[in-house]
Amino acid sequence: RRILTAAFGEEDKEFEPKLRPQQLDSYIGQESVKENLKVFIQAAQQRGEALDHVLLYGPPGLGKTTLSNIIAKEMGVHIKTTSGPAIERAGDMAAVLNSLSEGDILFIDEIHRLNRMIEEILYPAMEDYVIDIMIGKGPGARSVRLDLPKFTLIGATTRIGLLTAPLRDRFGVVQRLEPYDIHSLKTIICRSADVLQVEIDEDGAEEIARRSRGTPRIANRLLKRVRDFAQVRYEGAINGEVARFALDLLEVDKMGLDLIDRKMLLMMIEKFDGKPVGLDTLAASIGEESETIEDVYEPYLLQLGYIQRTPRGRVVTGAGYAHFGLKAKEV
Ligand code: ADP
Repeated sequence: RRILTAAFGEEDKEFEPKLRPQQLDSYIGQESVKENLKVFIQAAQQRGEALDHVLLYGPPGLGKTTLSNIIAKEMGVHIKTTSGPAIERAGDMAAVLNSLSEGDILFIDEIHRLNRMIEEILYPAMEDYVIDIMIGKGPGARSVRLDLPKFTLIGATTRIGLLTAPLRDRFGVVQRLEPYDIHSLKTIICRSADVLQVEIDEDGAEEIARRSRGTPRIANRLLKRVRDFAQVRYEGAINGEVARFALDLLEVDKMGLDLIDRKMLLMMIEKFDGKPVGLDTLAASIGEESETIEDVYEPYLLQLGYIQRTPRGRVVTGAGYAHFGLKAKEV
């Protein structure tokens, strides 16, 4: 399995809950999102009301789940967590909504994966805090309207484009999480090292931060791997040398690219001669699904400015060539 994927995986299960900051103040970066939320939280508390529904979007591993839990803490309310794919039947959704208390937060991860019928239950729930449920079957069936407590829905999604307009419009607060800069990642890494009780110096933290693709989840994962090396090969402390050694061995390069990223770029440069390549062609030639390229590989390469999307396909930029010490051809 790819170490650089931002998706939540087996190896994150044990550590992630420990490494999650619990307060808004220990939640690093995302300054404008935090500022906005602080105001909304305070305003809701002053009015003694539930917080408006919040939609958080952005790539995996940037802290949507963490932030939702912090919001609950700051509001002093309970949070119930579920996900789009977990709610299969209308009854599941009704049961979850019914179990909420006044002011509670319902967190739905991957909310774009809710099916349409279930989504429609959410509309009146979000708007008027009611649900309509069908009682009985056949000609005798009737619909009963139930009142719900005033709750807050926090939806998280990596694909805001897949959300239907009616659902999206029902969120009063829509915030986008951005990839983290090196400075924020370093702070996160140092904090995590502290929690894991491993010593780390400035240089070591910087080295890991640079290769973490702007993503705290990846930063924490790389930190754990480097920690293992430090423990076995060095005296347990992490410095720049250990970090470089370990990450080179894991084939995570200085910009946070791994074998597959490099293979894809080199394929575009060598096999396609730097000309635009269609997504499907690219997928076929590196043996991956088109969606995987779009969701997993491409965002970071786009962010680095190594590739560009053009109407005729993807092209490697001058910066992308330069990563391999090559010069882009004049087109
Ligand atoms: P998402 O829900 O967006 O996929 P998570 O909230 O699960 O991401 O975050 C993944 C991990 O990254 C968390 O366990 C947490 O330790 C760390 N993390 C995310 N954002 C931050 C942050 N702003 N400050 C510190 N750690 C963070």
